Amino acid sequence: MFEQMKAKQVAIVTGGSRGIGRAIAVALGREGFDVVVNYARSAQSAEEVKAEIEKSGSRAHIVQADISVRQDRDRLVDETIKTFGQIDLLVNNAGVAPDVRADVLEATEESFDRLININLKGPYFLTQRVARHMAERRQGKIINITSISAYTAHTHRGDYGVSKAGLAMMTQVFAARMAEFGVHVYEIRPGVIQTDMTGPVKEKYDDLIFNKDLTPIKRWGQPDDVARAVLAIAKDYFPFSTGEVFNVDGGFAMRRL
Ligand code: NAP
Repeated sequence: MFEQMKAKQVAIVTGGSRGIGRAIAVALGREGFDVVVNYARSAQSAEEVKAEIEKSGSRAHIVQADISVRQDRDRLVDETIKTFGQIDLLVNNAGVAPDVRADVLEATEESFDRLININLKGPYFLTQRVARHMAERRQGKIINITSISAYTAHTHRGDYGVSKAGLAMMTQVFAARMAEFGVHVYEIRPGVIQTDMTGPVKEKYDDLIFNKDLTPIKRWGQPDDVARAVLAIAKDYFPFSTGEVFNVDGGFAMRRL
């Protein structure tokens, strides 16, 4: 008997050009997914990710799109379907931190709007669009990359925390709605991960991790730690779970005495 050839699966990774998204896109490529690498501004980095995916024998396609802009989101979906025919996995990874870590008593409405638009409204309506496609095909998975900030109050990043808490609820809403179509929705909650985003606060977190017992596992998280969690879901190791939260945080979420 010949083993049945498994059909190619297609993934969109938003913010796939750098950091966590880059690790996810490359890991999915290695697992045999065709990957759409979305980015906003880093064209050169996106090209590098594409080349790395292609080296592993999978196909990659780059789509520049600002996920906070509706026309860009539509183009991202349309181009993916035109290029690869379908979407099996959406990873809502793209996200930004506030430009200034301002006290919640001082932080601006402009910063709030920027974070909500990119970190929450963009993924919300991108997911709505992709979910309709997945409902028609009666299959698919959606993974939202939130943060420990979804439940950890930080007085100098209120807008970021609110956007991530919203993304956590969004996971539940779509998980509840999409189960009847065989589409499962998951949240991955990374802790402190070493990327460009945390570059400006490296010293602060070095001190917290190595001197102040921030986490039981005393090291920086790496983008690949998050990519592995994505792979476990993408490879269907959680078929009886949806709306589930996966902490990838070195044990940060545990209450300890
Ligand atoms: P990063 O290194 O700053 O990379 C951010 C990625 O998002 C880049 O690929 C960037 O594209 C893309 N992006 C930003 N704005 C975009 C937009 N409007 N439209 C499309 N793409 C956009 O950040 P990271 O640390 O990898 O973070 C990735 C995700 O994990 C974010 O959602 C972040 O909130 C979350 N997270 C990070 C940490 C951490 O400690 N690093 C912890 C918890 C959660 P360009 O390259 O084109 O700018």
